[in-house]
Amino acid sequence: MRDKTILVTGGAGYIGSVCTELLLARGYHVIVLDNLKTGHRKAVHPKAEFINGNIGNKSLLGRLFNGNSIRAVIHFAAETLVTAANTQPQSYLANNLVQGIHLLDSMLKHGCRQIVFSSTAAVYGEPNDVPIKETHNTNPLNAYGDSKFMFEKVLKHYGNAYGIKSVVFRYFNAAGCTKHYGELHNPETHLLPLILRVPLRQSDYINIFGDDYDTRDGTCIRDYVHVSDIANAHLLALEGIEDLNNPTYNLGNGTGFTVKEVIATAEQISQCTIPVRIQPRRPGDPAVLVASSDKAREQLGWNPNYTDLESIVESSWAWHLRHKDGYD
Ligand code: UDP
Repeated sequence: MRDKTILVTGGAGYIGSVCTELLLARGYHVIVLDNLKTGHRKAVHPKAEFINGNIGNKSLLGRLFNGNSIRAVIHFAAETLVTAANTQPQSYLANNLVQGIHLLDSMLKHGCRQIVFSSTAAVYGEPNDVPIKETHNTNPLNAYGDSKFMFEKVLKHYGNAYGIKSVVFRYFNAAGCTKHYGELHNPETHLLPLILRVPLRQSDYINIFGDDYDTRDGTCIRDYVHVSDIANAHLLALEGIEDLNNPTYNLGNGTGFTVKEVIATAEQISQCTIPVRIQPRRPGDPAVLVASSDKAREQLGWNPNYTDLESIVESSWAWHLRHKDGYD
């Protein structure tokens, strides 16, 4: 079973739940480790084994690695609220960095050497060149981006010194849903689920944070990539990890959409007018974040299925219509 057992940290979260679903469909045995601080118990696929706990709990990890023949870890668990990261960096660094190191140490102790890590486009800060390549200079603008970037560095050192094999994915804007699993945060801060609250009659309007950026309509441009395509990249990484040289890949579609364009697409798909309120810029928001994902395409053979914004928004709208009360 060693080749087939994967530990998914954060498997009750948005991307973790979708990745778990895909791993199970491909015949893997999945153990989800999640403390349910932000995840949802019902987002864990019923065929996955669920353990409620922290990624830095060494005795729990010891029992997990001793009791199971775990081939690899896919590490999604993290604190991700950018604004909170700046006011409470201690918690971000403790969870995303220190506890992550405990996880790596437990892996080493028990002979598990493969890890796929969720990082973020936030490591780049304000880009000089768009589309952003992995070689672009890094300058995280907040404690969240920094905590992820520091853990990327830890992985490099553990790779060089101890033979840990890692694949790092820097996600751009994950969006969309599968039939069963979707984007649901509390508090919700992400654009698309907040927009969809208006046609769901859970909000009266959507805030636009800044309409005076140097972009085609003044609002920020982001690269939206479907969560299933992100999950697929993780499967490809697992398959290729031994032959790769601890790479880092951007995951994005390579096309940017403004906030207003996302709102217009949501209006078209939900057949509902979505009123907007212009607010000041959100601190630390770069004007444009668009990925070059050529490296993932070339080296992993990654080929996203959802290349247009409509299909991404459609999948999200379908899930939210079926889950108006979230997972309950
Ligand atoms: N945004 C917005 N209104 C909202 C939430 C987000 O205008 O209620 C903007 C935000 O400023 C950014 C884009 O939408 O330009 C995407 O934000 P999100 O938080 O979804 O992802 P991020 O790019 O911060 O990772």
